Amino acid sequence: MSLPTAPQLPKPLTGPQKALRKLGLERAIDLALHLPLRYEDETRIVRLSEVREGEVAQVEGVVTHCEVKLSGHRQLLVTLDDGTDTCLLRFFTFYPSSQKALAVGNRIRVRGEVKGGFGGLTMMHPAFKSAGGELAVALTPIYPTVAGLPQAYLRRAVQGALARAELSDTVPLENLYEIGLQPSWNMRNALLFLHSPTPEVALATLQDHSHPAWQRLKAEELLAQQLSQLQAKRERARLRAPVLHSDALDDVVDDAHAASRLHARLKPGLQGSLRNRLLATLSFQLTAAQHRVSAEIAHDLARPVPMHRLLQGDVGSGKTVVAALAAAICIDAGWQCALMAPTEILATQHFAKLVSWLEPLGIRVAWLAGSQKAKERREMLALIASGEAGLVIGTHAVIQDKVQFKNLALAIIDEQHRFGVAQRLALRSKLSAQTDQPELVEGLAAASSLRQAQDQPSSARTVGLEPHLLMMTATPIPRTLAMSYYADLDVSTIDELPPGRTPIITKVVNDARRDEVIARIRAQLDVGRQVYWVCPLIEESEALDLSNATETHAQLSAALPGAMVGLLHSRMPAAEKKAVMSLFTSGQMGLLVSTTVIEVGVDVPNASLMVIEHAERFGLSQLHQLRGRVGRGTAASACVLLYSTGDAPRLSEAARARLKAMAETHDGFEIARRDLEIRGPGEFLGARQSGAAMLRFADLATDTALLQWARQLAPVMLDQHPALAEKHVLRWLGGKAEFLKA
Ligand code: ADP
Ligand code: MG
Repeated sequence: MSLPTAPQLPKPLTGPQKALRKLGLERAIDLALHLPLRYEDETRIVRLSEVREGEVAQVEGVVTHCEVKLSGHRQLLVTLDDGTDTCLLRFFTFYPSSQKALAVGNRIRVRGEVKGGFGGLTMMHPAFKSAGGELAVALTPIYPTVAGLPQAYLRRAVQGALARAELSDTVPLENLYEIGLQPSWNMRNALLFLHSPTPEVALATLQDHSHPAWQRLKAEELLAQQLSQLQAKRERARLRAPVLHSDALDDVVDDAHAASRLHARLKPGLQGSLRNRLLATLSFQLTAAQHRVSAEIAHDLARPVPMHRLLQGDVGSGKTVVAALAAAICIDAGWQCALMAPTEILATQHFAKLVSWLEPLGIRVAWLAGSQKAKERREMLALIASGEAGLVIGTHAVIQDKVQFKNLALAIIDEQHRFGVAQRLALRSKLSAQTDQPELVEGLAAASSLRQAQDQPSSARTVGLEPHLLMMTATPIPRTLAMSYYADLDVSTIDELPPGRTPIITKVVNDARRDEVIARIRAQLDVGRQVYWVCPLIEESEALDLSNATETHAQLSAALPGAMVGLLHSRMPAAEKKAVMSLFTSGQMGLLVSTTVIEVGVDVPNASLMVIEHAERFGLSQLHQLRGRVGRGTAASACVLLYSTGDAPRLSEAARARLKAMAETHDGFEIARRDLEIRGPGEFLGARQSGAAMLRFADLATDTALLQWARQLAPVMLDQHPALAEKHVLRWLGGKAEFLKA
């Protein structure tokens, strides 16, 4: 009996092949676009008398001395003489073969960094071979790489790829002139050049990416980004979403005076749309900015196209109520709304607030969180599946498979940058997954007649529809980023704070003056105010983080006898967290010592002082978010940024810049702008950076002209040269463009 033949397995990848894959270098074009970090000049031999210290130099000469030094560190010492000077070559690892190659009398060529000093020139571990070989004709590229992928292998792979890759131009010629790009530096020439530039090029222009070949690459990259985002936006515009008509959309006013008249008119009777009834029951009036963004959202919801909107507003600007108003429109139209928040603490707060606003108006709000008991979870799932719950609030639990909505039409994501692309996509797919009405499945064939579907009652048809998406963030996106990475989003901005807030005074204080700070806490507690103490971030270890918070908690409890001092950290069981938070929210607890778990969303208006320990370790937008926890009521509030220099004599430049920015401004946009300056775009993009949409070559700070050019060219290309546009995006982004759609 013969054994069945084993299926042909693909050949296992070699180490370097695996490494290439890890770097995302799979297609020929990916390799062609993998540009050098820097170059080495192996095109010439320099004289030792002319080399400068610190320079990498290639020299040729005769070995005049070669010995193995045995005392101390075993090492091979070789003296090289090129007739103009001598240089000592030092090797700590060497083989008998090295000694042979470096024997006295041999003529050799060495390359390495030259160090000066009392004993004359030296090189540590230079590369060496026998003298007289051919010299390189181009600069030698040094590529970004990973362990297991040697430069030589990568160089060969890139050279091979350059020969294979399809590099014909995709940008129409006439559009190059507009921005001063030279047609001679087309894609092919630019890439060939950047991988092996001729030696006479000014290295500085390669280093700072100002060389015309670099300009071309950056322009192409920015164009790819704009094209893919515009494509995503247009694709979305072709999708269908439930029309959420607020019956009194006319009442959605965007000026404060009309709003206030409306407020007065509606209060007594409590009639009209759910949205307006909610407005009338609020204990405050919306700011003009809240009205404006709320109208923008209402306008989107009334269209049969999925909304894809980012609501940005500084901490405390009142985004929650705007979300609630959007939810009200959705529920009023007979559909369900989901609100997802990144932490359980934040979700709990939203839940409490929205229940207090909406349940009196007869809306059932469901709750979903990881810590929930199985029985409660089952009840909630049933409420959601039957459609009884108009609004569902929770953490990531909202997107679990088990959660079946009856008819989800609006998904709201708070602190959107905390969520991954996959999670956003999961939430969006909740609507298309709704198949609780069997007749709808048959109706799939008729899904093309979706326009008609819009006119049917909401419970009738959900197949083929996408929910509207509202993302919220307190980290405002600077303009250049909004224009590049977020070009596919519609953005609404709340640019004013509710009235009556007193500005927060920010003080930067050396940790040596901790006692004074504690006295200040005492004073606040004595007048019935509450205080946050945020413990430092210890990056290396969560356990250290915790022990530190525990210690600080003990220390502050001892220093403030008679005060209730609570402790909150991320490792606590959810029930305990909840208990501590509710003691603080209710005002019984005076001082809350916490790790950064309170960073987002916590809303306790009576808190008037925040102390941030080791503030120098926090990022700027994080400090700003934290500070936003105070100054939410009418009391004068303060934020103390405690810093410590540790063993160092002073703070680092970046840390100083951050603390200074915090003390100088309270404007979230200004802070975001400075943060971008200090740290680059990564922080703002959150999950978007894992979408590989990061710009590799272009720099938003310096390439705004190219960005503008790409922005205006993208729609022209899509309309007039769709095939070229397609090719361009595929070349630059491959399959990664998908990520942008979330
Ligand atoms: P954020 O934008 O940071 O999420 P919140 O929605 O938590 O801000 O609002 C902060 C506080 O301001 C809450 O207590 C909220 O009820 C209150 N608030 C919101 N809008 C107004 C307003 N127009 N007037 C007065 N208070 C408001
Ligand atoms: Mg919030």
